Amino acid sequence: MSQIICQRILLKLSGEALMSEKGGSIDPDIVQRLAQEVKDLCDAGIQVGLVIGGGNILRGAEKASDGLNRVTSDQMGMLATVINALAMQDALEYLGQPVRVMTALKINQVCEDYIRRRAVRHLEKGRVTIFAAGTGNPFFTTDTAASLRAIEIDAQLMIKATKVKGVYSADPNKVADAVFYPRLTYDEAIDQRLNVMDTTALVLCRDNNLPMRVMNIFEPGAVMRLMRGEDIGSLIVRK
Ligand code: UDP
Repeated sequence: MSQIICQRILLKLSGEALMSEKGGSIDPDIVQRLAQEVKDLCDAGIQVGLVIGGGNILRGAEKASDGLNRVTSDQMGMLATVINALAMQDALEYLGQPVRVMTALKINQVCEDYIRRRAVRHLEKGRVTIFAAGTGNPFFTTDTAASLRAIEIDAQLMIKATKVKGVYSADPNKVADAVFYPRLTYDEAIDQRLNVMDTTALVLCRDNNLPMRVMNIFEPGAVMRLMRGEDIGSLIVRK
């Protein structure tokens, strides 16, 4: 069997990834399916850090436009990511996979505070480590949190899960002739406003030379195939 290409990865799932078509913010079957994908990676010896967004429950900027104070609404958004992290923790534990949730906001009766060295220790021991509550600061996104944590834990690769194959020139569900980019640089993504992640996150990855794969992780086994060297999705690099 082909060799694993990464020892430690950071996987970013949007909150919407946990939603079902039927509605409802968290679909247990979907969470269980995603948890199984993550467990398969761990079983292959890969250390997995996870960041899950909160958009299935609440997005701060949207609430702020409804008249709520932006800082308060972002704090609500960060708490939404904790709810998702707990759902994923539960699903992983159900599968027998050791897991810890660490948060950037102190909620220590529910989960651990984020301490980098402790996070790295969890990863080394084979525990999935879910980084919740984003960066702990308003006005940021969980994409930025994922980039930050990936760099902090020395992940070799960040994987951003999407519902499409990778990065396109336009939304392929809306624009029939949207062009797929198998490989691009962070500067190209920024200059062409390719809607991969917010600019803060892209710049953080670029400046710290963290490669990123944008891919559809709802295709069963795709991340595992990527880890075995298959060229899946879009690769974004510094140069
Ligand atoms: N958020 C924040 N600071 C952070 C990360 C997230 O304030 O560092 C808030 C923000 O309101 C955001 C919400 O949490 O809208 C949910 O995160 P995000 O929108 O990134 O989730 P996703 O779109 O990935 O589901």
